[in-house]
Amino acid sequence: MQKKISVVVPCFNEEAVLPALFDRLGRAAATWQADCEFICVDDGSRDRTWEILKAQNARDARWRGLSFARNFGHQTAVSAGLHFAGGDAVVILDADLQDPPEEISRLLQKWREGYEVVFATRTQRKDPPLKKFLAWGFYRLLQKLTPLPMARDAGDFCLLDKKVVAVMNAMPERNRYLRGLRTWCGFRQTSVEFERAERAAGVAQYTFKKSFRLAMDGMFSFSTVPLRLATYLGLAVSACAFLGAVFTFCEKVFADTFAKFGFTPGPHGIPTLVISILFLGGVQLICLGILGEYIGRIYEEVKGRPIWVIRDSAGLLPPGKN
Ligand code: UDP
Ligand code: MG
Repeated sequence: MQKKISVVVPCFNEEAVLPALFDRLGRAAATWQADCEFICVDDGSRDRTWEILKAQNARDARWRGLSFARNFGHQTAVSAGLHFAGGDAVVILDADLQDPPEEISRLLQKWREGYEVVFATRTQRKDPPLKKFLAWGFYRLLQKLTPLPMARDAGDFCLLDKKVVAVMNAMPERNRYLRGLRTWCGFRQTSVEFERAERAAGVAQYTFKKSFRLAMDGMFSFSTVPLRLATYLGLAVSACAFLGAVFTFCEKVFADTFAKFGFTPGPHGIPTLVISILFLGGVQLICLGILGEYIGRIYEEVKGRPIWVIRDSAGLLPPGKN
């Protein structure tokens, strides 16, 4: 029996790029020698994205769609797509054609060789310099902070075997940093290098704020090192305080010897006091903030709200069954 490939495409205000996506992805899929379905998830777009997706479903039933009740974010849109994907392998692809659909055949080739996770790493990013620099720093920091073998410079463009998709779908968490979840799953993983293109049309939907939030999700969902930072800072500050106390004690007892080196005990000034209070206050606030990050996430999780809300669907859910 022929294998089935699902492609999940998150779309947020992508009306400008959708016609090119339908065309290029459709043509690439014709070379795969497999059945295909394309699941486009409209992440609460404010433009005509959903109308265009519905029209495409009416033209070609392999194109299916979901529309969220509001903007839930890229990672959530992809998660919903994975939930509905029925293929033997599922490919995750950005709508803006920065991940070239023509490269999917290389991912498929690795999958056919027996790999269950094939992710694409970017040899070159065509992004603004600041974004490139921050991404470079983030991937390296995350690698240091987590025990998982997180790949550098790998985005969400990847292929997942249905076994891996099943494991990811069973993960109940709300803060879904998919690259981390994918790494966490294990299985046989490999990577394929590709050059990331520029956006085919439209404007980037990942604002700095959204990218920062994603980076924080990655950091706090996959590492508890920041929690330990409080302990390290506390130890360092206590050690300094202890040394200071010993020094002051000796300065009083061995006043003559100390005087030879120019140390004379005297009333230590207000500045020293203010600096130490501010320093300790700062350290404590940082530690509280870190605790807050984790507690906030625990709070989000225990509320147990649905991860996404579906407003409409095309070819995926029976009418009225949202
Ligand atoms: N996207 C989404 N929800 C969002 C932001 C982005 O579904 O809130 C989608 C967007 O439509 C695109 C993909 O995520 O398919 C990547 O977004 P974008 O191209 O803006 O990010 P960048 O490539 O700049 O990282
Ligand atoms: Mg993009």
